[in-house]
Amino acid sequence: MESEFDLDKVIRKIPNYPKGGILFFDITSILTNPQAFSYCIDRMVEIYKGTDVAAVAGIESRGFLFSAPLADRLDIPLILVRKAGKLPGDTWRQDYQLEYGMEAVEIHKSDIPRDKEVLLIDDLIATGGTLSAAKTILEKGGATVKNVFGVIGLTFLSFQKKLQGVKVTTLISYSDESL
Ligand code: AMP
Repeated sequence: MESEFDLDKVIRKIPNYPKGGILFFDITSILTNPQAFSYCIDRMVEIYKGTDVAAVAGIESRGFLFSAPLADRLDIPLILVRKAGKLPGDTWRQDYQLEYGMEAVEIHKSDIPRDKEVLLIDDLIATGGTLSAAKTILEKGGATVKNVFGVIGLTFLSFQKKLQGVKVTTLISYSDESL
């Protein structure tokens, strides 16, 4: 556990949700704790302020909650990575396998900054499949992705394998799925 603030105490863990065998790490208990939420956003600002990151891309939906305040604090654009069928404009789509089922994400083509570095953000990194799919789209649009961020990282799901070649930063990581 690499956290100064004890995020582990704040994060609610729900066994067997959304189905048997999955331990669900619930970040609503961070959002209802202003000190914990500020800690997360302040740490993200500290990590990425003054870097080459030129835009932030947040994954629907819980990734929006952390990417939006960061984009505002860094004063850079926020790009939405949405579930397929939600964005009204011309998009690129990428299908991928999730920890529990198949998924697809889309990004507006016109939102992707060519030759600029985009920081990808989600609340939690499990298999890394969602971030990896979003990275594929961003690179197709000509952006570079060198950094991905999750408040929580589940290292026991080996996200590192799907996110090779990028720096993965988390505020707290769990190496064991037992409580
Ligand atoms: P992945 O693509 O496998 O890295 O999955 C990441 C996405 O699924 C994130 O948006 C998470 O919010 C959600 N997710 C996957 N597994 C869990 C879990 N065990 N607890 C909470 N959220 C999860």
